[in-house]
Amino acid sequence: MIIIMKQDATDEQISQVVNRVKEEGLAVQMNRGNEQPIVGLVGDTRKIQDVAFQRYDGVEEIVRITNTYKLTSREFHPQDTVVDVNGVKIGDGSFVTMAGPCSIEGLDQIRETARMAKAGGAKILRGGAFKPRTSPYAFQGLEEEGLKYIRQAADEFDMQVITEVMDEAHIDMVAHYSDILQIGARNMQNFRLLEAVGKTGMPIGLKRGISGTINEWLNAAEYIAVQNNNQIIFIERGIRTYETATRNTFDLSAVPLIKKLSHFPIIVDPSHGTGVWDLVPPMARAGVAAGADGMIVEIHPDPVNAWSDGPQSLNEKTYLKMMDEVHILEKAMKEIHELKNL
Ligand code: PEP
Ligand code: MN
Repeated sequence: MIIIMKQDATDEQISQVVNRVKEEGLAVQMNRGNEQPIVGLVGDTRKIQDVAFQRYDGVEEIVRITNTYKLTSREFHPQDTVVDVNGVKIGDGSFVTMAGPCSIEGLDQIRETARMAKAGGAKILRGGAFKPRTSPYAFQGLEEEGLKYIRQAADEFDMQVITEVMDEAHIDMVAHYSDILQIGARNMQNFRLLEAVGKTGMPIGLKRGISGTINEWLNAAEYIAVQNNNQIIFIERGIRTYETATRNTFDLSAVPLIKKLSHFPIIVDPSHGTGVWDLVPPMARAGVAAGADGMIVEIHPDPVNAWSDGPQSLNEKTYLKMMDEVHILEKAMKEIHELKNL
């Protein structure tokens, strides 16, 4: 349930409503970025009667949100949320690229990849130090050593870091070296992990689960948002279907759909979305055209010898060409938005 206050509601009127919500045993999250302040009721609102609030001065409307992801929904927050990663804005209408290797393999490798990434215009460096691998015998990541390398490389090239955290026990360590915590597809519904990363207050990149429905994904974001964390970035990385010609089926319709249902930004991951390097540039272009707020893409100085996900990684040449195309489309999208706003 949300309570939409009148545009000219006073602070005093808002506090009276907020106090009453608290007396009912519920928590509150406020949205003051909107023209009309919105009071979001957090918790089980089934027992609350609308009339209890209708008599308060300053109340315009009481809206029951029927879906279970209230704070994540557009109803609660009609305007777009912009995630701010130390000044790099995601969701402000620009297209932000995060690029880097699947795994951090060593200092030289991540420095060289950071150089490539930056040359193409990426502002955020990706790279896994804790890798969720199908086989327990596959390379599992360099862990803290890798985190140190990616931080050093990102600082050298004035970039931000996104890296995956797989386990609650490692949150403090991963947070220390990074700027965005990535929740991998396999952990989209690891609810304790979602709560714990939410509590850090850091930006969270939330990958869509391998078989995650849109509704499950939105509810996963709610686990983070309810911890008073509104710095959430959805990452569409493809879902498992009956198709085996690509690694996953890249669900581009998720981009406009998430934008309709939620206020948080969404970026695309055409690398895991296809699993095949030469399908990555066309799907990246499609991501820009679909209205994504950015992308995360795997690149490597020598994909053939990459320790993980080489087949879907772009080398310097193919990456730079893709980025030239992406920059052209970004400009075209700006023109399209201007037309829309006329
Ligand atoms: C990754 O980003 O390298 C990764 C493991 O992604 P996902 O969780 O989407 O499979
Ligand atoms: Mn990967």
